Amino acid sequence: MPQLSASIKSKLPKVGTTIFSKMSALAAQENAINLSQGFPDFDCSPKLVELVSKAMKSGANQYAPMSGLIGLREQISEKTEKLYTGKYKPDTEVTITAGATQAIFTAIAASIEEGDEVIIFTPAYDCYEPAIDLAGGICIFVELKSPEYRINWDEVKKLINQRTKMVIINTPHNPTGTIMTGQDMLQLEKILDKSDILVLSDEVYEHILFDGYEHQSVARFPKLAERSFIISSFGKTYHTTGWKIGYCLAPEKLMTEFRKAHQYNVFSVHTPSQQAYAEFLEYEDEYLNLKHFYQKKHDLFKDAIKESRFNPYQTAGSYFQLLDYSNISDENDIEFAERLTKEFKIASIPTSVFYNRKVDQKVLRFCFAKQDETLLRAAEILNKI
Ligand code: PMP
Ligand code: GLN
Repeated sequence: MPQLSASIKSKLPKVGTTIFSKMSALAAQENAINLSQGFPDFDCSPKLVELVSKAMKSGANQYAPMSGLIGLREQISEKTEKLYTGKYKPDTEVTITAGATQAIFTAIAASIEEGDEVIIFTPAYDCYEPAIDLAGGICIFVELKSPEYRINWDEVKKLINQRTKMVIINTPHNPTGTIMTGQDMLQLEKILDKSDILVLSDEVYEHILFDGYEHQSVARFPKLAERSFIISSFGKTYHTTGWKIGYCLAPEKLMTEFRKAHQYNVFSVHTPSQQAYAEFLEYEDEYLNLKHFYQKKHDLFKDAIKESRFNPYQTAGSYFQLLDYSNISDENDIEFAERLTKEFKIASIPTSVFYNRKVDQKVLRFCFAKQDETLLRAAEILNKI
């Protein structure tokens, strides 16, 4: 293709292709076991497939309403109240989105102005920073210290000023697998009290917590909820990451602005999937039992590698396990992750990519949302390294 002599000035000069695309491509090229990008290697419930197919056959194939099918919004509203007590009106306070990624982007686009400061905690899931940059906002990074990766609220308090517009939290946390406690939420509530600062709470792993821990949704804390966009995704909960359906909950005033951006960003999302999820949400065991399902996988994987030279960090939630490889190699984590894929045929994610500055802690992230057989094969390899 001939190139135009004029080029556009990049709005995201630091950004390349995401690590998830890179490592999954490398895994495919090398025929390696792919524990890098977070998605299951097993199928979703056949019942869910049946429900989408039923929706398509019954003619649910045209645009859904801009904010999503009302039946699905009602189910989400009921579930949120039942689990976390927070009340969201289906007509004005719930919007269905093209995955959590679009909801995050839209919430930021709708509320961040040039020069606004947004506090994010690193290591951070990789879609927050570019969305803030594109909106003209300024990321204020707070580094979580390994291996606990807990938030130091005194540090956060010191960073808050007149320009602070938003704090982004993520629990259970990608990539570390840590969770925020009720005390964390109360601290955040206290720090933000009497300010106009917004919260974006990324809760996509809300049903994947281990060892009896409970998810502390912002929806449990009314004084936080009144200033928050809560974002979740059906991709993680129902093993359907490829369907890209998520949602946002927010008080009406915030949701009105969210929808102004949403309607010109995607307008509405895949109708038959929405209809299927609306019916599938009736089966509450499907999401309530997810933590047991993943606890078994977590325990299986961790136990299978206990004799290896990798050191596991504690995972309280999410489907990610961090492994420290400092006993094995001095290579930086990107080099080591690449070598592991090419030489040992096992792909992971280097954690340094989730920081704004180069932090090489010799830690890799492994996704255990995989068949037991895949996890055991992976463990066999890791044990030999
Ligand atoms: N937030 C976090 C923390 C994630 O791990 C992911 C990806 N799995 C997303 C948001 C995006 O979710 P979705 O695939 O629904 O866009
Ligand atoms: N959230 C998934 C992960 O952390 C990947 C999502 C993506 O590929 N963008 O691995």
